[in-house]
Amino acid sequence: MQSITLSTPLNEIRSIPIVQMQKLEILGVHNVGQLLVHLPHRHEWIRAQSGLNDLEPGVIGSAVGEITATKISGFGRKARFQVVLCDETGRLDLVFFNQSFLAKKLHVGMTLRVQGKPKKFGPGLQMSSPQFSIIPFDDVEKLNKDQDDEYRPVYPATEGMTSEQIYTIVRTILDQACALLEDHLSDEYRKERELPSLGDAYRMMHSPESESDVQSARRRLAYDELLMLQLGVHMKRAHLRRTLKAPPLERTAEINERILARMPFTLTDAQQRVVDEISRDLSYETPTNRLVQGDVGSGKTIVALDAMLLAIAHGHQAALMAPTELLAEQHYLSITEMLKGSTVRIELLTGSLPAAERTAVVSKIASGECDLIIGTHSLVSESVEFHSLAVAVIDEQHRFGVEQRAMLRVKGGKAHESETPHVIVMTATPIPRTIGLTIFGDLDISTIDELPPGRVPVITKHVTPEKRSTVYHWVNEKIKAGDQVFIVVAAIEPGGKGEGQVRNLRAVMKELEGGELHDVRIAALHGRLKRDTREHIMHRFRAGKIDCLIATTVIEVGVDIPNATVMVIEDADRFGLAQLHQLRGRVGRGDKPGVCVLIGNPKTEDGIARLKAMVETTSGFELSEKDLEIRGAGDVFGTRQSGAPPFKVADPLKEIELLQMARRDAGNWIAESPNLDRPEDALARRRLLKAHGQWLGLGDVG
Ligand code: ADP
Ligand code: MG
Repeated sequence: MQSITLSTPLNEIRSIPIVQMQKLEILGVHNVGQLLVHLPHRHEWIRAQSGLNDLEPGVIGSAVGEITATKISGFGRKARFQVVLCDETGRLDLVFFNQSFLAKKLHVGMTLRVQGKPKKFGPGLQMSSPQFSIIPFDDVEKLNKDQDDEYRPVYPATEGMTSEQIYTIVRTILDQACALLEDHLSDEYRKERELPSLGDAYRMMHSPESESDVQSARRRLAYDELLMLQLGVHMKRAHLRRTLKAPPLERTAEINERILARMPFTLTDAQQRVVDEISRDLSYETPTNRLVQGDVGSGKTIVALDAMLLAIAHGHQAALMAPTELLAEQHYLSITEMLKGSTVRIELLTGSLPAAERTAVVSKIASGECDLIIGTHSLVSESVEFHSLAVAVIDEQHRFGVEQRAMLRVKGGKAHESETPHVIVMTATPIPRTIGLTIFGDLDISTIDELPPGRVPVITKHVTPEKRSTVYHWVNEKIKAGDQVFIVVAAIEPGGKGEGQVRNLRAVMKELEGGELHDVRIAALHGRLKRDTREHIMHRFRAGKIDCLIATTVIEVGVDIPNATVMVIEDADRFGLAQLHQLRGRVGRGDKPGVCVLIGNPKTEDGIARLKAMVETTSGFELSEKDLEIRGAGDVFGTRQSGAPPFKVADPLKEIELLQMARRDAGNWIAESPNLDRPEDALARRRLLKAHGQWLGLGDVG
């Protein structure tokens, strides 16, 4: 046998047919090592060869028979080639589409081994385009019918290359290649964790003897992926801790008094717990990096405000970054209101600020003439330099990583020597804990798992569009009784591609003004309005001068109008589950119970499932789990958004124990060897930098 290394190009391996080698190259597989890591996506049992009569419809099987008849029918691209195969037990029909050249290859009297999934065909069975091999005449006698079942890898189907062909090629190099694989985990380390060696893992993945081989191999490979990511995150964190400092913010009794005096209500136990957790973080020089998750309406704003006031009390600045202008504006108005009469100087910085105003605000931020800056993304733009930023809060952040890192890069400013602020991220979209742990191994998590007192869960109903008129009659009655109402629509104007039958804001408004809601005060709110207009409308709605707000999803996050109790969502099936839950969170925020009516006629299974989940569940945590079920993990995981390369083998949502093990191991490892620069770490370090060095920016580490 030819001797190979992991970097031997496939074109030097003589046993691989050229055509197939070229196809592998298209897949990005050029050498032996790459072939080894080209993993099957699943495995299946292949039944041992059976009599033709023993084949079962729908079950992959293999059998041997003699060709007793062949026939070509149809012409050109429609041509099909049919073969009848017989043995002593029965008959199997084969059909090959668009492969009439086979007529020159397969003849009556030949013996054929076929493999495939037969289906019912008349009284018997048929396989279409099965894999087959012609058994040479001399070998027919030697056919062994007592083989065992075989557990086979299935490779993702690719252009012109069957799984079977890949398997055949892999087998030619497998044993040699696996023996060459160096392991970055020592024998002892693996033994403690019951992990197979890397070589064994790849061998079992490609050529397992049983399900348990695959399980064991998967566990090792998944562990490696999780470990590498965690090592990277911990290494980065250790590096940051050594090099970056934030101003320590001690919560003295006097400061505490002053902050408490500003609180409009008593904190819930959960809020108090989180405030304490954050205060403890902030008292250290180590930059805080904490995620606060709490369902919609759980009262995250006040917790953030508390931390920001702590920074300001120490003479530093604090910033609050919101995902939309509307939310930034609202925070600006309500926090200004709350801090009325104090010395705290507050500024708003959003993209729609006129240039002159923007320049003025930016210069106040740089000179330290303002203490609390509320804004959107504009806060992390190049031109913004802080005088002395000590606490940065990111509100309603559903996608983690990118923005968070941007905020971390914001310099603390010239006035204090530290380079970075403490960062607190808030979300109402509970990321399953595991995701937080995986990607943000460096993120501490606090949960506000309690709603403010007196809150009654929102009642949710689903009605079909025919009942719309009844719904709006009822809405009118609620308004007459003093309630305020949101109506949410999916589009502003008619038309637009792919919007189909969606009811738009203008049409709904016109219809209601001339119909069920002709005698109430209606206003429209959407993203295309000017900031002044938007603020004016929100202000009037809050003051009770508008009864009914017809809005797009601009009101999705954070909008807080305690007197609004009713929400009607048109075309509710068009919205995602997380979005519906956020929207619903706009009502029932005071002590009056909220009602949410979903109007929709869902046509897809997912749409039906979403509305059902909304009616049955009020907890955001439960909904996010259902969302996972409906959408699948990949979508929610969103590794792309965070910048992390996706996992090939690991499924951190399911393999929680493995994840925890990897996290703990990585923590210990980095504690012992922060730069992985011991000789015994060299291989792990090299593989780590290859996998994660770039996106984690580890190039500069050590
Ligand atoms: P979210 O977590 O969705 O951001 P908010 O911070 O906007 O929630 O708070 C929702 C509403 O509950 C606001 O009107 C806020 O004033 C009120 N609230 C928050 N905490 C309390 C509390 N401890 N007691 C009473 N009301 C509270
Ligand atoms: Mg909020």
